[in-house]
Amino acid sequence: MKQKSINCSRIPIYRDAGFELYDAQTTARAFSNEIDPAHNPELYIYSRYRNPTVVAAEEEIMKLEGTAWALLTQSGMSAIDTALSIFQKGEKSSPWLFFSEIYGGTISFAESVLKNRRGLDIHSFNPLMGRYNLASFESLMKKLKPEIVYIETISNPMLIVPDAARIIEIVKKYGAVVIVDNTFATPYLWKPVKDGADIVVHSATKYLSGHGNLTAGVLCGNDPHLFKAAIEYRKLVGHMLSPDDAYRLHTQMQTFDLRYRQQCSNASRIADLLLKSERISKVWYPGLKKHPSHNEAAALFRDKGFGGMVTFDFAGKSKAEKGKKRDSFIKAVSDNIRLIPTLGDPRTILIPVESVWGAKYPEPGMIRLSAGFEVYEELEITIKDALKVI
Ligand code: PLP
Repeated sequence: MKQKSINCSRIPIYRDAGFELYDAQTTARAFSNEIDPAHNPELYIYSRYRNPTVVAAEEEIMKLEGTAWALLTQSGMSAIDTALSIFQKGEKSSPWLFFSEIYGGTISFAESVLKNRRGLDIHSFNPLMGRYNLASFESLMKKLKPEIVYIETISNPMLIVPDAARIIEIVKKYGAVVIVDNTFATPYLWKPVKDGADIVVHSATKYLSGHGNLTAGVLCGNDPHLFKAAIEYRKLVGHMLSPDDAYRLHTQMQTFDLRYRQQCSNASRIADLLLKSERISKVWYPGLKKHPSHNEAAALFRDKGFGGMVTFDFAGKSKAEKGKKRDSFIKAVSDNIRLIPTLGDPRTILIPVESVWGAKYPEPGMIRLSAGFEVYEELEITIKDALKVI
């Protein structure tokens, strides 16, 4: 039996691969309105093109980022692929500039797919002593004249925050496009499109879904031409999110604000706690005054918080001693703080930096921690106890 109107209070999971269109005229209207942002519920065609459960989750993200459109994809990487690929114009492309301290997967994508396979002219801009220098950036813009500039709001694992609002101004002065990966900062701390970014992307696998139980990505913006290009690209390469994952994302986003606020607070308190310990040689957290990009973070995030990630290094006379301390710490906290290679989970989790980044950060004592939203006092006991036994 087909039931059309049930008084449910949340979006159902529409698992239909194709939607009923009844007659030739409705079918013609549906196909001619396929990429209309204000999609008519009667005109859904096929789930790979658009799906009502996915649209409901997209609307939540539009509200959060304050954008005219949002498109969900099946991973953060597919959102990044979409955001970049819609600007590719055959083989003749101007240079594309990526800030160097961005997610390793994005760097590999730029190298292996954009440069080596598609032949694009890819360049990188490096920070100096943990900060991106704006004068050097502007002179590179002048010289290179890139078509696209790609940045992240908080880098990984050193948590470098660029002066992103100013960077967008400079990029716009030279007529280029700015894409911002806002996964770590989230719209809770900053909304890049409101400050002039063309597209903001997220790995929604992290804070937006926030429970470590799904993989998703999203790209958002205001420009209707970019929306049309992105929805077409998503359809043609099949980057669509599943309705089941969209349903869970939609539900879990209802608590986004509460969760992220608590994660920022826990991270900040953990950073302070670690800083006081003589077993720790260094703590990186943008909220700490001595973090190299504290001023940029304070200006950009307007004191709403400094994110949920903390990186730290153990004290030790040698690399071997630091590595030993790291291993004992990981063991000592493992009942409550597990080694899981993701971030933005409900519980605090960690990864050893050297094991993941290798030669880029050859520091055997370094750990990157993603604060969860548990009660802080429980975390404090776990960390203090572990620091006593290492
Ligand atoms: N962007 C950032 C900042 C990330 O940290 C990640 C993954 O860790 C991605 C993008 C890729 O997202 P996903 O794993 O959902 O494809």
